[in-house]
Amino acid sequence: MSFASLGLSEALVRAVSERGYESPTPIQAKAIPAVLSGGDLLAGAQTGTGKTAGFVLPILQRLSTTAPRRAGAGGARPIRALILTPTRELAAQVEESVVAYGRHVKLSSTVVFGGVNINPQIDRLRRGVDILVATPGRLLDHAGQRTVDLSGVEVLVLDEADRMLDMGFIHDIRRVLKLLPAQRQNLLFSATFSDEIKALADGLLNKPAMIEVARRNATAEGVVQRVLPVDRVRKRELLSHLVREHNWFQVLVFTRTKHGANRLAEQLAKDGIPALAIHGNKSQNARTRALAEFKSGTLQVLVATDIAARGLDIVELPHVVNFDLPNVPEDYVHRIGRTGRAGAEGEAVSLVSPDENGLLRDIERLVKRQIPRETIAGFELDPNARNEPEVDDRPPRPSRRPARGAAPRQNAPRPGGSASQRPDGAAAQRTAASTPQRPAASVPQRPAASAPQRAAQPASPAASTRPFGVGGVRGRPTRSGR
Ligand code: AMP
Repeated sequence: MSFASLGLSEALVRAVSERGYESPTPIQAKAIPAVLSGGDLLAGAQTGTGKTAGFVLPILQRLSTTAPRRAGAGGARPIRALILTPTRELAAQVEESVVAYGRHVKLSSTVVFGGVNINPQIDRLRRGVDILVATPGRLLDHAGQRTVDLSGVEVLVLDEADRMLDMGFIHDIRRVLKLLPAQRQNLLFSATFSDEIKALADGLLNKPAMIEVARRNATAEGVVQRVLPVDRVRKRELLSHLVREHNWFQVLVFTRTKHGANRLAEQLAKDGIPALAIHGNKSQNARTRALAEFKSGTLQVLVATDIAARGLDIVELPHVVNFDLPNVPEDYVHRIGRTGRAGAEGEAVSLVSPDENGLLRDIERLVKRQIPRETIAGFELDPNARNEPEVDDRPPRPSRRPARGAAPRQNAPRPGGSASQRPDGAAAQRTAASTPQRPAASVPQRPAASAPQRAAQPASPAASTRPFGVGGVRGRPTRSGR
């Protein structure tokens, strides 16, 4: 099958062939004709499947072959397509794709996200763009300042909608929807279909075409997965050993906490391995710099938390290391989706301490296979070692079921108030009035963290089993800090 046979114009076919794409990926083969037909779409696809081109290409085609429905404010060109993404990195990457695929058509685009100066964004929006890629919080800031006019939007894309809900953006999304004209095409992409996603889709989509491509956990053939049992206290040593012994380059390492990411990057650097951490508490400049160095190959190891790593598109990333297993089994699939992409071979190694065996079982149940264990000589488990779970510093995701063996959560308020940091730079705040008290009996009792861990890692305020939207699991974001 060719891109031309999907009904795309010569200018778009030329652009993808210049990118080196020979044929459409399965999601593109299904999504492109569906979007070109003009109807709504509900698509099940993850990052790494080529989903971005699946919606960007037909949007470019549609906008380049039709006139705007209405003029923008003051006669300016209206924003005709709005693409919402959960993270800044994903927003930047999607907009890069819009530029790359649209290089032979006369359309303009820009990206707005938090954590950076808003003024250049205002200038750019004032000059008029056809396609706007945005994170919800910063978009609403622009709307509040009347520096964006969304009344001419013809196509709305919610990219990685499940992540947006997990990250507490539902209220923001609903507020954005109110700013859009009622008549428009809606495209919703999500890797998973929780009840919350179904509810959002029901309210948003009109008789949508439904497409789904195989999840990577069903098809991750290009990824060699291994579990290396090791005591928690020796994980860092083992990681340094592996990186040095095998001369690994471009290693993406996942930790469960921001604090853990910082600590690990510092320790690796002390071991002589160039490493930086990337997470929601880092400034946007620091994140961009770390990512650029990692992509160019000058940075050997990038240590990331799940949310920060979301949407990173590093082609043919050879090594992914789970320094901690994720609490939510689906995150394992997202993590290993970073490697072996677009048919390339990749390796995903998990350093699993005995306290994580429950999490490992949940992951193996999800991926429907046993991941081979391999003990590295010199790093055998010590029966007397203390293996205590790392305490989360991330707001819990509203999972369908509690993850077994999950890190302890306490109901204690966060130091300095109840604010938690959102990945787009906004502080998510829970107020006493908006936060109903959870009955003590429904809070899973787990062992308390050790004192040093508690001091270092503020506890998450809510249990992972609370349904999304009830009492605002992530709470309503403040308008500051975007
Ligand atoms: P995405 O899932 O949209 O993040 O895309 C994942 C990766 O696949 C990106 O690096 C794309 O450049 C690449 N890609 C997208 N479509 C194709 C294609 N048809 N052939 C080869 N690579 C592709």
